[in-house]
Amino acid sequence: MDLNSPSQNSGPAALDSTQFDFRALPEVAGRRKGEFQAIMRQSVLDEIHTHGQSSRDAEVCGVLVGMPCRDDAGPYLHVEACIRGENATSASANVTFTAETWTHIQAEMDRLYPDRKIVGWYHTHPGFGIFLSGMDLFIHQSFFDLPWQVAFVYDPLGGDEGSFVWDDGKPVRKAFLVQSDKPAGEQPVPVTPVVDSKPLGGKMGIYIVILILLLVLALIAWTLWMLFWMGGNQSALLIELQKSWVRLC
Ligand SMILES: [Zn+2]
Repeated sequence: MDLNSPSQNSGPAALDSTQFDFRALPEVAGRRKGEFQAIMRQSVLDEIHTHGQSSRDAEVCGVLVGMPCRDDAGPYLHVEACIRGENATSASANVTFTAETWTHIQAEMDRLYPDRKIVGWYHTHPGFGIFLSGMDLFIHQSFFDLPWQVAFVYDPLGGDEGSFVWDDGKPVRKAFLVQSDKPAGEQPVPVTPVVDSKPLGGKMGIYIVILILLLVLALIAWTLWMLFWMGGNQSALLIELQKSWVRLC
Protein backbone atom coordinates (compact mmCIF):
# COMPACT_ATOMS: atom_id res chain seq x y z
CA MET A 1 0.00 0.00 0.00
CA ASP A 2 1.49 3.35 -1.03
CA LEU A 3 0.47 5.50 1.88
CA ASN A 4 1.03 8.80 0.07
CA SER A 5 -0.85 8.03 -3.11
CA PRO A 6 -4.54 7.32 -2.74
CA SER A 7 -5.76 4.51 -4.95
CA GLN A 8 -8.77 5.08 -7.18
CA ASN A 9 -10.70 1.95 -6.14
CA SER A 10 -14.34 2.49 -5.24
CA GLY A 11 -14.27 -0.45 -2.83
CA PRO A 12 -12.28 -3.53 -1.97
CA ALA A 13 -12.66 -7.03 -3.32
CA ALA A 14 -14.64 -9.56 -1.29
CA LEU A 15 -13.04 -10.85 1.88
CA ASP A 16 -10.90 -13.95 1.38
CA SER A 17 -9.83 -15.28 4.76
CA THR A 18 -8.02 -18.39 3.55
CA GLN A 19 -4.64 -16.65 3.91
CA PHE A 20 -5.36 -15.25 7.38
CA ASP A 21 -3.31 -16.41 10.35
CA PHE A 22 -5.10 -19.03 12.45
CA ARG A 23 -5.20 -17.54 15.92
CA ALA A 24 -7.55 -19.08 18.45
CA LEU A 25 -9.08 -16.48 20.71
CA PRO A 26 -10.82 -17.15 24.01
CA GLU A 27 -14.56 -16.58 23.82
CA VAL A 28 -15.45 -12.93 23.37
CA ALA A 29 -18.97 -12.02 24.47
CA GLY A 30 -21.27 -11.08 21.59
CA ARG A 31 -19.23 -12.71 18.83
CA ARG A 32 -21.31 -13.85 15.89
CA LYS A 33 -20.14 -17.06 14.28
CA GLY A 34 -18.95 -16.55 10.72
CA GLU A 35 -19.43 -12.78 10.68
CA PHE A 36 -16.33 -10.67 10.17
CA GLN A 37 -16.00 -8.34 13.13
CA ALA A 38 -13.29 -6.19 14.69
CA ILE A 39 -12.13 -7.49 18.06
CA MET A 40 -10.45 -4.61 19.86
CA ARG A 41 -8.23 -4.92 22.86
CA GLN A 42 -9.43 -2.89 25.82
CA SER A 43 -6.05 -1.13 25.95
CA VAL A 44 -6.56 0.14 22.38
CA LEU A 45 -9.98 1.54 23.26
CA ASP A 46 -8.49 3.17 26.34
CA GLU A 47 -5.79 4.83 24.22
CA ILE A 48 -8.32 6.09 21.63
CA HIS A 49 -10.46 7.49 24.46
CA THR A 50 -7.45 9.22 26.02
CA HIS A 51 -6.42 10.69 22.65
CA GLY A 52 -9.97 11.84 21.92
CA GLN A 53 -10.48 13.36 25.35
CA SER A 54 -7.26 15.36 24.91
CA SER A 55 -8.92 17.33 22.08
CA ARG A 56 -12.59 18.03 22.72
CA ASP A 57 -12.80 20.84 20.14
CA ALA A 58 -10.97 19.49 17.09
CA GLU A 59 -10.86 16.01 15.60
CA VAL A 60 -7.87 13.74 16.13
CA CYS A 61 -6.98 10.58 14.24
CA GLY A 62 -4.65 7.61 14.17
CA VAL A 63 -4.23 4.16 12.72
CA LEU A 64 -5.18 0.75 14.12
CA VAL A 65 -2.54 -1.97 14.24
CA GLY A 66 -3.06 -5.73 14.30
CA MET A 67 -3.77 -8.69 12.05
CA PRO A 68 -6.66 -10.18 10.11
CA CYS A 69 -7.07 -13.63 11.67
CA ARG A 70 -9.36 -16.62 11.69
CA ASP A 71 -10.32 -19.27 14.17
CA ASP A 72 -13.03 -21.92 14.48
CA ALA A 73 -15.73 -19.21 14.61
CA GLY A 74 -14.54 -17.61 11.35
CA PRO A 75 -12.48 -14.63 10.23
CA TYR A 76 -12.03 -11.62 12.47
CA LEU A 77 -9.87 -8.54 12.72
CA HIS A 78 -7.64 -8.48 15.78
CA VAL A 79 -6.90 -4.88 16.72
CA GLU A 80 -3.92 -5.03 19.05
CA ALA A 81 -2.54 -1.49 19.13
CA CYS A 82 -2.89 1.98 17.67
CA ILE A 83 -0.63 4.84 16.65
CA ARG A 84 -1.61 8.47 17.05
CA GLY A 85 -1.68 10.51 13.85
CA GLU A 86 0.78 13.21 14.87
CA ASN A 87 0.75 16.34 12.67
CA ALA A 88 -2.66 15.54 11.24
CA THR A 89 -4.68 18.61 10.38
CA SER A 90 -8.29 18.94 11.39
CA ALA A 91 -11.16 21.32 10.82
CA SER A 92 -14.28 21.06 12.97
CA ALA A 93 -15.69 18.06 11.10
CA ASN A 94 -12.81 16.76 9.02
CA VAL A 95 -9.46 15.27 9.74
CA THR A 96 -6.68 14.84 7.19
CA PHE A 97 -3.69 12.54 7.18
CA THR A 98 -0.75 14.66 6.02
CA ALA A 99 2.50 13.38 4.51
CA GLU A 100 4.18 14.03 7.89
CA THR A 101 1.48 11.97 9.62
CA TRP A 102 2.20 8.99 7.36
CA THR A 103 5.96 9.35 7.83
CA HIS A 104 5.50 9.23 11.60
CA ILE A 105 3.10 6.27 11.41
CA GLN A 106 5.40 4.29 9.12
CA ALA A 107 8.38 4.95 11.42
CA GLU A 108 6.36 3.73 14.42
CA MET A 109 5.23 0.64 12.51
CA ASP A 110 8.84 -0.22 11.65
CA ARG A 111 10.03 0.46 15.19
CA LEU A 112 7.26 -1.13 17.28
CA TYR A 113 5.16 -3.43 15.08
CA PRO A 114 7.32 -4.76 12.22
CA ASP A 115 5.31 -8.01 12.08
CA ARG A 116 1.89 -6.37 12.24
CA LYS A 117 -0.30 -4.56 9.72
CA ILE A 118 -2.18 -1.28 9.60
CA VAL A 119 -5.68 -2.72 9.93
CA GLY A 120 -7.65 0.51 9.82
CA TRP A 121 -7.91 3.97 11.26
CA TYR A 122 -9.72 5.88 13.97
CA HIS A 123 -10.80 9.46 14.35
CA THR A 124 -13.03 11.52 16.60
CA HIS A 125 -16.26 13.44 16.09
CA PRO A 126 -16.45 15.76 19.12
CA GLY A 127 -20.14 16.20 19.77
CA PHE A 128 -21.58 15.16 16.42
CA GLY A 129 -22.06 11.42 16.60
CA ILE A 130 -20.96 8.32 14.77
CA PHE A 131 -20.98 8.30 10.96
CA LEU A 132 -18.55 8.64 8.06
CA SER A 133 -18.61 12.04 6.34
CA GLY A 134 -17.83 12.50 2.66
CA MET A 135 -14.21 13.29 3.52
CA ASP A 136 -14.08 10.26 5.86
CA LEU A 137 -15.33 8.05 3.01
CA PHE A 138 -12.64 9.50 0.74
CA ILE A 139 -9.94 8.73 3.32
CA HIS A 140 -11.31 5.23 3.92
CA GLN A 141 -11.53 4.40 0.22
CA SER A 142 -8.14 5.95 -0.51
CA PHE A 143 -5.94 4.60 2.27
CA PHE A 144 -7.82 1.73 3.91
CA ASP A 145 -9.36 -0.12 1.00
CA LEU A 146 -8.28 -3.64 1.87
CA PRO A 147 -11.35 -5.82 2.56
CA TRP A 148 -10.40 -6.37 6.21
CA GLN A 149 -9.56 -2.75 7.07
CA VAL A 150 -11.95 -0.88 9.35
CA ALA A 151 -12.81 2.69 10.28
CA PHE A 152 -13.44 3.47 13.94
CA VAL A 153 -15.20 6.65 15.07
CA TYR A 154 -15.36 7.94 18.66
CA ASP A 155 -17.30 10.91 20.00
CA PRO A 156 -15.40 12.18 23.07
CA LEU A 157 -18.29 14.42 24.12
CA GLY A 158 -21.21 12.01 23.65
CA GLY A 159 -19.19 8.90 24.52
CA ASP A 160 -20.58 6.86 21.60
CA GLU A 161 -18.29 4.91 19.26
CA GLY A 162 -18.59 2.53 16.35
CA SER A 163 -16.67 0.52 13.77
CA PHE A 164 -17.28 0.44 10.02
CA VAL A 165 -16.47 -2.73 8.09
CA TRP A 166 -16.36 -3.12 4.32
CA ASP A 167 -19.54 -4.83 3.12
CA ASP A 168 -20.26 -5.17 -0.60
CA GLY A 169 -18.00 -2.24 -1.50
CA LYS A 170 -19.32 0.09 1.21
CA PRO A 171 -18.23 0.73 4.80
CA VAL A 172 -21.11 -0.41 7.02
CA ARG A 173 -21.37 0.10 10.77
CA LYS A 174 -21.01 -3.26 12.51
CA ALA A 175 -20.79 -4.08 16.19
CA PHE A 176 -17.22 -4.48 17.35
CA LEU A 177 -16.12 -6.66 20.24
CA VAL A 178 -13.83 -5.95 23.16
CA GLN A 179 -11.13 -8.28 24.33
CA SER A 180 -9.71 -7.89 27.81
CA ASP A 181 -5.92 -7.64 27.66
CA LYS A 182 -5.65 -9.89 30.71
CA PRO A 183 -5.37 -13.68 30.18
CA ALA A 184 -8.62 -15.60 30.63
CA GLY A 185 -9.36 -16.45 34.24
CA GLU A 186 -7.08 -13.82 35.64
CA GLN A 187 -8.89 -11.83 38.28
CA PRO A 188 -8.11 -8.20 38.91
CA VAL A 189 -5.85 -7.76 41.88
CA PRO A 190 -7.88 -6.26 44.76
CA VAL A 191 -6.64 -2.92 45.91
CA THR A 192 -5.38 -3.13 49.47
CA PRO A 193 -4.67 -0.09 51.61
CA VAL A 194 -1.00 0.67 52.04
CA VAL A 195 0.06 -0.25 55.56
CA ASP A 196 3.42 0.79 56.97
CA SER A 197 4.97 -2.56 57.87
CA LYS A 198 7.64 -0.84 59.99
CA PRO A 199 5.79 1.49 62.35
CA LEU A 200 9.01 2.22 64.19
CA GLY A 201 10.98 2.65 61.02
CA GLY A 202 12.28 5.97 59.82
CA LYS A 203 12.77 9.07 61.95
CA MET A 204 10.05 8.23 64.48
CA GLY A 205 11.89 5.02 65.46
CA ILE A 206 15.15 6.91 65.98
CA TYR A 207 13.43 9.50 68.22
CA ILE A 208 11.89 6.74 70.36
CA VAL A 209 15.25 4.95 70.76
CA ILE A 210 16.95 8.24 71.77
CA LEU A 211 14.15 8.94 74.29
CA ILE A 212 14.55 5.47 75.88
CA LEU A 213 18.35 5.91 76.08
CA LEU A 214 17.92 9.31 77.77
CA LEU A 215 15.49 7.79 80.29
CA VAL A 216 17.93 4.95 81.09
CA LEU A 217 20.82 7.42 81.48
CA ALA A 218 18.68 9.63 83.74
CA LEU A 219 17.78 6.60 85.87
CA ILE A 220 21.45 5.57 86.20
CA ALA A 221 22.49 9.13 87.07
CA TRP A 222 19.70 9.40 89.65
CA THR A 223 20.71 6.04 91.23
CA LEU A 224 24.38 7.07 91.46
CA TRP A 225 23.41 10.45 92.97
CA MET A 226 21.23 8.71 95.55
CA LEU A 227 24.09 6.37 96.46
CA PHE A 228 26.42 9.30 97.19
CA TRP A 229 23.74 11.39 98.90
CA MET A 230 22.70 8.60 101.28
CA GLY A 231 26.35 8.12 102.22
CA GLY A 232 26.20 4.37 102.26
CA ASN A 233 23.00 4.07 104.34
CA GLN A 234 21.72 0.89 102.66
CA SER A 235 18.29 0.64 104.24
CA ALA A 236 17.42 4.30 103.67
CA LEU A 237 18.63 3.98 100.09
CA LEU A 238 16.49 0.88 99.51
CA ILE A 239 13.41 2.60 100.95
CA GLU A 240 14.05 5.67 98.78
CA LEU A 241 14.55 3.49 95.68
CA GLN A 242 11.36 1.59 96.44
CA LYS A 243 9.39 4.85 96.74
CA SER A 244 10.87 6.13 93.47
CA TRP A 245 10.02 2.95 91.56
CA VAL A 246 6.47 3.05 92.89
CA ARG A 247 6.20 6.67 91.68
CA LEU A 248 7.63 5.71 88.29
CA CYS A 249 5.22 2.84 87.87
ZN1 LIG B 1 -15.28 12.12 10.43
